[in-house]
Amino acid sequence: MKLTCEPQDGDLLVPADAAALARNSSLTRRIATVAYPFKCCVVCGLQLEAGLQAAHLDQRPLNNEPDNLAWMCVTHHTMLDLGLYPVEAIKMMRNHWQVTEGVPDNSLRMKNAGPKSAATRRRNLQGSNPQEDLQGFNALPPV
Ligand SMILES: [Zn+2]
Repeated sequence: MKLTCEPQDGDLLVPADAAALARNSSLTRRIATVAYPFKCCVVCGLQLEAGLQAAHLDQRPLNNEPDNLAWMCVTHHTMLDLGLYPVEAIKMMRNHWQVTEGVPDNSLRMKNAGPKSAATRRRNLQGSNPQEDLQGFNALPPV
């Protein structure tokens, strides 16, 4: 019996990594670079360019529409391909990173956080009326 690595007549030739190659083709990366110049994993924020892949959100490697692409690290790209993330959530995070460019903006989230947490602590400690606590909170000037 002769062992060979050469294809024989009748062999079905399916390059195992063809999809992976297409998925991260230089064309895909160029399109993603133009559409999303701030490069980081949209899930974890990794900014190490060598560790980033241009993920196809619909998992069709030839669909290089910018709305179908997002930068992702290998781990999160795999999780996306397993269907663990809603595509709309990925798109929201993608847009967030492009706007913030990695600089946290907690201004809206933290607005009046101190008075709110103080009111919660008082309520929890005293079992008081929540409306009374909010009266003092509402009287505070906006930050
Ligand atoms: Zn990641």
